[in-house]
Amino acid sequence: MNDLKIAIIMLGPPGAGKGTQARLLSSMLGFAHISTGDMLRMAIKDGTENGIRAKTFLEAGQLVPDELVDAIVYERLRHSDCRRGFILDGYPRKLSQADTLQRILDQDNVQTITVCISVTDEVLFVRLGSRWMCPNCNRTFSEELSSGTLKGGCDKCNVSLVHRADDSTDVIAERLKVYHEQTEPLIRYYQERGTYIMVDGDQVPAKVFYAIHGALEERMNSGAAKKRE
Ligand code: ADP
Repeated sequence: MNDLKIAIIMLGPPGAGKGTQARLLSSMLGFAHISTGDMLRMAIKDGTENGIRAKTFLEAGQLVPDELVDAIVYERLRHSDCRRGFILDGYPRKLSQADTLQRILDQDNVQTITVCISVTDEVLFVRLGSRWMCPNCNRTFSEELSSGTLKGGCDKCNVSLVHRADDSTDVIAERLKVYHEQTEPLIRYYQERGTYIMVDGDQVPAKVFYAIHGALEERMNSGAAKKRE
């Protein structure tokens, strides 16, 4: 009987490519992709109570209060598509959230794998400043990589792409500051717990995925080998 449940936690600065890689992993593994940024933007678009509360924080590049984002995530984890496993993209983003998450995962005996995508601030500034997003499916596109696609809008949803409101220079600077101060300490936190994988995010998405895939396979095989010993 195999009732092992896996949580993959995507770590890395804004613009590192967490969303792109989470989507690829989600289709490969059949795990739910849970993006707190996408859920918050959707709540803002729908004008829900959470959306109204979150809006000013997102616009300023600051973190929304824990109780708001925690509630959104834990409600989402109850959905049936999280039964086998899920990929957290944008959560946890600070130590208090990581502690809360750890308690929930321990209760449910969920195994954690952390994937950290590392990219320098210089590269991130250029990337985020030239990034476009589909307002429908939330996929992001960068001018250098998909100039052909950009002209016709999102190739899947057939709608025009938009710039994210928080991809302006001053808000990018604030998001990177918040990342270094509040999220980066999570690298150490997860290095000390469970499986931790670090990949170089300054490569085309396919190469980053190849690196993640290879590292995951290696860890899973060595886990299986350990069990056989
Ligand atoms: P990025 O990683 O590119 O900054 P996200 O889409 O993950 O973008 O997040 C956008 C914004 O949503 C963040 O700047 C923050 O305001 C809010 N947010 C997302 N996840 C969290 C979280 N776990 N805790 C607090 N705020 C969050």
